[in-house]
Amino acid sequence: MYIEKIDIKNIRRHFDSNVLIAGKIYDVEHPRKPTHPMFVFVKDDTGITQVPIFGKSEFRSKQFRLNDSFLFWGKVSEGFYSTKYQLDYRDHLKINILDKNEIDFLKFKYFPIYELSGVLKKTWVRPLLLSKIVFNAFSSILKVNDALIKESLPENIISKCNLVSKKDAILRINFPLQLSDVETARKRLAFEELFYLQLLMALKKRLVQVEAKGIEFHKDINELTNHFKSTLKFELTDAQKKVMNEIYLDMKSNKVMNRLLQGDVGSGKTIVSIFALLIAVENGYQTALMCPTELLAEQHYVTISNFINDFNKISGKEIKVTLLIGGQKKKLREVLYQDIRLGKTNIIIGTHALIQEAVEYKNLGFVVIDEQHKFGVMQRAKLKEKGLNPDVLVMTATPIPRTLSLTVYGDLDVSVIDELPLNRKPIKTYLRSDEDKANIFKFVKDEFKKGRQAYIIYPLIDESEKMDLKSAEENYKLLKETYFKNYPIGMVHGRRFWYEIDEEMQAFKEEKIKLLVSTTVIEVGIDIPNATMMIIEDAQRFGLSQLHQLRGRVGRGAEQSYCVLIAKHLDEVSRKRLNTLCETNDGFKIAEVDMEIRGPGEFFGTRQSGILNFSCTDLNKDKDLLDNARKIAFEIVNDDPHLRKPENISIRECFLVNYKDALYLMKVA
Ligand code: ADP
Ligand code: MG
Repeated sequence: MYIEKIDIKNIRRHFDSNVLIAGKIYDVEHPRKPTHPMFVFVKDDTGITQVPIFGKSEFRSKQFRLNDSFLFWGKVSEGFYSTKYQLDYRDHLKINILDKNEIDFLKFKYFPIYELSGVLKKTWVRPLLLSKIVFNAFSSILKVNDALIKESLPENIISKCNLVSKKDAILRINFPLQLSDVETARKRLAFEELFYLQLLMALKKRLVQVEAKGIEFHKDINELTNHFKSTLKFELTDAQKKVMNEIYLDMKSNKVMNRLLQGDVGSGKTIVSIFALLIAVENGYQTALMCPTELLAEQHYVTISNFINDFNKISGKEIKVTLLIGGQKKKLREVLYQDIRLGKTNIIIGTHALIQEAVEYKNLGFVVIDEQHKFGVMQRAKLKEKGLNPDVLVMTATPIPRTLSLTVYGDLDVSVIDELPLNRKPIKTYLRSDEDKANIFKFVKDEFKKGRQAYIIYPLIDESEKMDLKSAEENYKLLKETYFKNYPIGMVHGRRFWYEIDEEMQAFKEEKIKLLVSTTVIEVGIDIPNATMMIIEDAQRFGLSQLHQLRGRVGRGAEQSYCVLIAKHLDEVSRKRLNTLCETNDGFKIAEVDMEIRGPGEFFGTRQSGILNFSCTDLNKDKDLLDNARKIAFEIVNDDPHLRKPENISIRECFLVNYKDALYLMKVA
C-alpha cells in the first residue's frame, strides 16, 4: 500500500481517506479527564490540523513535545469536539528535519506502508519506521555502490521488452515518484520471475526430450487399431482421434514422451489412455496406470479389464491386467508382485501402491497418471524411475487456466480433448436452499421412477468434525428413516474400508442402490452413466472446480442430468461463484473464474503451489507478460541449450544462484 503525503491545508479534500502529513507540534491541548484524548496541533508550511492522541496521559505528553517534528499516517475524519477536520492516526514517526537523509526521505510524495508480517509483528518496528529503515538502506547502498543491486536480465531482453532496470524497479516499487511507477516496476519484476520459471521449463523439457533417449514404440499399429475399433462400443470423437494421434507420434519417436492430456470431465480420456497402453503392450513393454484413489483404481480396473477381455477375444491376444492397491491381503500382494516382476502381467492399475519400494517391474515402458493434479511431483517421478525411461502420459480433468498450466506444466506437451461425446446433453444446474429440500427430494423420486439414480454429497463424514456443516453419516440415517424410507440407499466415504466402498459402488452400478450418499471420495473419475442427479449439500463449502468435478459424475450418458447445489449464508462472492456453475458447463470458464476469485495458489491446492510462490506476478493480470517471457526463454534454450553464449552468461549465473533448488527438483523429476 502507498500513502500520499499531503499539504495540511488540503486535508478536507481527503476526507475519509488515508494520508500522511509531516509537521511540527505547534500546540498541545491536555484533556480535562485522563480518559479523553490529548490533542496535538500539527503545523506545516500550509496549515494546521489536529491529531487526537489516546493512551496513557503521562506517556503521551512525554512523547509529543512542542516543536518536535513528526510524520503522521491515518485517516482524515471530522473533528470530535469541533467541526474541524482531524487525522485519526494509525502510526507516527519522529523526524529530524535538519538531517540531510531525512530531508531526502521527506521529499517523496508517496510512501510505502509495509505489512508487518512474521516476527516483525512482535517487535517495536512500526510501518513508518520500516519505511524509513528501507529508505536508509537504499540510500546507503546507492551511495556506496549501486552495483549492489545486480541486474538479473541481459541488456538485449531489457530493451527488447521495454523494461526498466532491476535497480530502478526495486527502488521505485518501494519509493515511487508517481503512482504509475509502481506498476511499471512490478511488471519488470514479474517478467523476471516468469522468465526464469519458463527458462527452467525450457531446460527441463530439453533435458527430458532431447538429451535423454526414450523408447521407440515402432511396431506397426494398423492391426491393433482395427481390433481396437472393433472392440469399441461407440464412435470416437474427432478430438479423441486427434489426441490419440498426437500420443502415437510421441511414442513412435525416440524422444521421451511427457504429455499432458487435458479434457473436461466426461470427455473420454480413459479410452484414449487404453489405446496408448495397448501400443506399448504391443511393443512388448509393461505399462502402469496410477490413480489417486482406490475407488478410481478399482473402477479403471473393471473398465479396462472388460475392454481388454473383449479385445483379447477379437485379436486372439492374451493381454493381462492387474490391480494393485493398498488394502489387498499380504498373500495376494506377494503373488501380484511376482507377476509384475516376472512380466506375467501387462497392464498394472493401482494407487500409489504402484510406487512402493517392493514393487519391481520387469520392463515398464509406458506410464499413465490419471487425475494427475492430485499427485505431487515426487510421486510422478517415482513411478517413472521404476521404468526404463518410460513415456509418460498425465491426464487431468481439472481444466487449468492456460496461464496456470504454462507455469506449472510448462515443460510438458499438451493435448486437449475439446469436445464431449455427441450423445451428451448439458447438465442443468440449480442453486437452492434448505427450504426447497422437500421439492428436491420429490424430484429425485420422480427420476427414480424413470429408472435413474442419484448422488447426494456432504462436506463431512460425521458431525464430530466441525459444527454447522452437514455430514454423510447423520444424513444417511435421516434420509433412510424419512424421505427415502422405501428406497435402497447406500453410503461411501473415506473412513469406510475399501471393500465396503467396493460393495456399495458395485451395488450402485448394478442399480441395486438408487441413492448414493457420499463425501468427496467420488469427486474424481467415477463413471456411472445411469446416475443423472447430483445433489450437493453445503455447496458453499467447496471450490468451484471441485463442484464442477462432482457435477461431472452425472451427465455421462444420453439422459438429461441435473445438479442441485444447496447452500446457505451466501455472501455476494459465494453467490457469484455458485451462479457461475449454474450458468456454464464449460470447465475452462469455471476454472478461470475460480482462479480469479481464489488466486492461483489456492486454486491449485498445496501440492503444487510451491512453484506459484510469486512475489510480484499476478497470473490473472500478467497473461501477456507470461507469453512473452515464455517465448523468449524457449528461444534462448533452443538456440543455446547450455547458456554458454556471451549474451547468455548473465542469465546462466543468475539462474544458478537463484534457482538451485528448482534445478535439483528438475533433475529428480
Ligand atoms: P473422463 O474424461 O472424465 O475420464 P471417461 O473416460 O470416464 O471420461 O468417459 C466418460 C464416459 O464416456 C464413459 O462411460 C465412456 O465409456 C464414455 N465415452 C468415452 N468416449 C465416448 C465416445 N466417443 N462416445 C460415447 N461415449 C464415450
Ligand atoms: Mg477419468
